[in-house]
Amino acid sequence: MAETEGFVLQSIDYKEDHKILYLYTEQGHQTVIAYRVKKMNNIQRFLSQRGSLIRFKRPQKELDALQDGTLINAYETIKQDPIAYTRLLHILELVRHVIDDHSNHHKMFHFLTKLFDQMNQSSDTEIYQFIFELKLLHFIGYGLNFKQCNICQSTNNLVFHPSSGGVICPKHIKDLSDTYRYDIYEVLAHYYYIDISQDTPRQIPNTKRLKIAHIIDMLYDEFVGYKTKSSQILKQMKKI
Ligand SMILES: [Zn+2]
Repeated sequence: MAETEGFVLQSIDYKEDHKILYLYTEQGHQTVIAYRVKKMNNIQRFLSQRGSLIRFKRPQKELDALQDGTLINAYETIKQDPIAYTRLLHILELVRHVIDDHSNHHKMFHFLTKLFDQMNQSSDTEIYQFIFELKLLHFIGYGLNFKQCNICQSTNNLVFHPSSGGVICPKHIKDLSDTYRYDIYEVLAHYYYIDISQDTPRQIPNTKRLKIAHIIDMLYDEFVGYKTKSSQILKQMKKI
């Protein structure tokens, strides 16, 4: 029987001892039932943790039983840090709610394996959150434009305007509030285009970091319209 790999996006209780697992695989979203997984001595218990990457027998249909499950990666280092773990959950929520069935799942699945491996080895997980969020925009069809004015194709004195999804020239922007100059949008472009299997993401000072986070928030309000529970929790955690 063919096997597949999947990230556990969400795990919810089902009857007394079972759990329903929402998984993301190379073939897209899949839902399976992990029977009796909540019993203390069940070896599959650790397979039902959110964020784990597991291998299992490829289900024939939705809500098939989870069979022959083995753990590939639990991303233990991420899970030991509450903020890093909440970032991971935020990414999983976005994958579950924003990526639809007709997407290039093969590409996204392999990007996620690289992303989580690197997050698991990094002390700066926020940068990986930025990279994911920006690349997800492109993945779901809201590509950002960093090259030339949206309206006249000018390449001079451009500013980045989040609600326009890209750069714009001074002639074609009425209101300069909520626009960002080159020193900020070139950082955004760096994270948007980076190939994380080739290059190391650039470190940035806190002042720029806050601006990047704010711009991404605006882009998501404008184009995605979905707020994760984990992003609300992250905001609370950062205030403490
Ligand atoms: Zn223009």
